Amino acid sequence: MAYKIIDTCIACGLCLPECPIDAIAEGDPIYVIEDTCCDFEDCLAVCPVDAIVPVDYDEADQQAQATIGRQL
Ligand code: SF4
Repeated sequence: MAYKIIDTCIACGLCLPECPIDAIAEGDPIYVIEDTCCDFEDCLAVCPVDAIVPVDYDEADQQAQATIGRQL
């Protein structure tokens, strides 16, 4: 399973040295994971805000559920 970085990234850079194939890059304003992502998961463990998620993670759906949860 490949991964991507979502908008909650705080651009701390902790994930960058964890990638064995240099598939993570500093973007603007958040970091990005290239298509070459090899599924090595050490980057997940170091992210302080859980911003590294599977590529099929639906960010809009998660935000909608969170909004509904706050209204209940
Ligand atoms: Fe962004 Fe998480 Fe990487 Fe830090 S460790 S740059 S918050 S994805």
